[in-house]
Amino acid sequence: MVPPGEVRLALEGTKRRLRYLFLRQFGVQQVVPELVILNKSSGEDRTEEVIFDGRRVARLSYDLQTQDYSLMLRIDGARMLAALNSKKTIVLTKASGHMKGQYLPRDAIKSFDAGIRAGDEVVIQMGQFIGCGVAKVDAPRLKTSPKGVKVRDFEKGGEWRRRKKSWTRAMIRANEQYLAAIKARAEHEIRGAIDSHDLPVTVSFSGGKDSLVALDLLKSVTSDFSTIFVDTGLEHPWTREYVNKFASENGLGLLTASAGDAFERNFHAFGPPAKDFRWCCKVCKLAPASELIEDRFPNGVLTIEGNRRLESFSRSRIEVKEENPFVPGQLVVNPIRDWTALEVWLYIIWRKLRYNPLYDEDLERVGCWMCPSALASEYKEIARAHGGLVRAWQADLEEWARQNSLPADFIKYGFWRWKQLPPKMKELSDRLGLEVERTRSDKLRLDVTKGASPCTAGGFSVEGVLRMPTADGLAEVAEMLKTIGDVKPVEEFGVAIVDSRLGRGKAFAGGQMSAVAETQSKSLELFDSVSRAVLRANMCTRCGICERTCPQSAISIDESVKVDGDKCIRCGKCTDSCVVAHYFDKLAEPLRADAKPRQKRRAA
Ligand code: SF4
Ligand code: SF4
Repeated sequence: MVPPGEVRLALEGTKRRLRYLFLRQFGVQQVVPELVILNKSSGEDRTEEVIFDGRRVARLSYDLQTQDYSLMLRIDGARMLAALNSKKTIVLTKASGHMKGQYLPRDAIKSFDAGIRAGDEVVIQMGQFIGCGVAKVDAPRLKTSPKGVKVRDFEKGGEWRRRKKSWTRAMIRANEQYLAAIKARAEHEIRGAIDSHDLPVTVSFSGGKDSLVALDLLKSVTSDFSTIFVDTGLEHPWTREYVNKFASENGLGLLTASAGDAFERNFHAFGPPAKDFRWCCKVCKLAPASELIEDRFPNGVLTIEGNRRLESFSRSRIEVKEENPFVPGQLVVNPIRDWTALEVWLYIIWRKLRYNPLYDEDLERVGCWMCPSALASEYKEIARAHGGLVRAWQADLEEWARQNSLPADFIKYGFWRWKQLPPKMKELSDRLGLEVERTRSDKLRLDVTKGASPCTAGGFSVEGVLRMPTADGLAEVAEMLKTIGDVKPVEEFGVAIVDSRLGRGKAFAGGQMSAVAETQSKSLELFDSVSRAVLRANMCTRCGICERTCPQSAISIDESVKVDGDKCIRCGKCTDSCVVAHYFDKLAEPLRADAKPRQKRRAA
């Protein structure tokens, strides 16, 4: 099985799709068993190994260019289809064991399906030999073209036989003891955390499968807990409905933290969120969650969550207990961190838990419906089944693209989902003949007018301009600079001067900045800090995260952020927690050539 082995059960929507694809590609019906396992593997979009009866039969993938699904056969899939006399079959007169990876010798072809077209997946048969491959030409040219069929795999022997016990309920029965053991282990961890911390207990319930399991485990341990649901304003309506219904049916005290229209309000300044710049998570999720926790649990809270290591790279190192760096006072417990998606699904079915109906729509992600981390295939599915949701978002994206002089295909093919395009998207733009910048610029830009270079007065200096969609006054910039050092605003020249341990920085309300320090690296580090302060001053969303993060209670937020310079110890925690400040990472490419890797800011 392809690593990392994030296997899961295929639910009804996925099985429906597989039935359709087997019929469309190979003309076979009733081929998809009740129990289908999928294993996630790498690819440009959705890519999964399809496992029937414990054997890999095909690879299911979504093509970004054609915006369609297809199946790529594995050798066991060819065996299965041969047993069903499927279409798209080529019969040979002779065979050898060395055809794998080669083109099929045209003189070896005895007969073939006249419906084969270039690009089709084909089954290759010869006596006891079986193979799979892809046709490179249409059927009429198969016997004349020297490169008519590329063989992917070719083997002697083996047969396809359907297993009688290939049913989900049989799988549950066979794994009942194992499921009971992992349940007991997770409950033990939850109980241990509750006993060792004198804190109120909550569970984070998003409406997804993992948080459903976390909730069920907690229910088995105690009834004394609250359930937190963060409504980002972008939740799929079915998810919102499911969460509320589940809570009332199960008598749960549901606390909803709502982001209201935070997404719409911030879209203008930030542009669409991206996989590598998910400002929406902080603004629409962490900010309302931390506000709710501060209001309801001012002395701290223990929260059980359904985070799993296999979910993503960023979660691959989660521990059993962790402090949430963005929600002060929240201690998170991750009892199912080592579970696979298959274990989660088996548990849900074993425990007869009612899950979110969106999973039966062949969706793997049931939270924010327009999440940039979703796959293009998932967008397509949402657009197909819930068009009303997508139309307004699509119109906003198209308007944003127009304002930023981006081609319409930038939206159609999903390029907006990255600030910096990964190689696969660069390749796609080349295939499509689209001219797309590697870095999405939006309206926010950093122009470095003078890289870190020797100063006539001694030391090194860096100069640049932040071009922003909004520009606040000097007072706001001066406030933010207090987190770096001692600030002196000079109204007359519209500049705020900051003296820090690194050197002297200057920032103008219009976005011009400079940093002078003894060494090149210090000048770059100071410029980095000044830039983040200017960004925060001008693009603050008033999310309140920095106020809650500050260990000195030096920040207050009213119409704008105010910093008490006497209390501030320049620890940098407010900047590290601020979504706006992180925007600088995406803008700082021009500086990277000179800069050493950015350290965590401490007392600039
Ligand atoms: S400066 Fe504070 S309130 Fe403003 S966006 Fe950053 S974290 Fe939120
Ligand atoms: S978090 Fe640290 S740097 Fe920011 S205001 Fe508080 S004390 Fe100052």
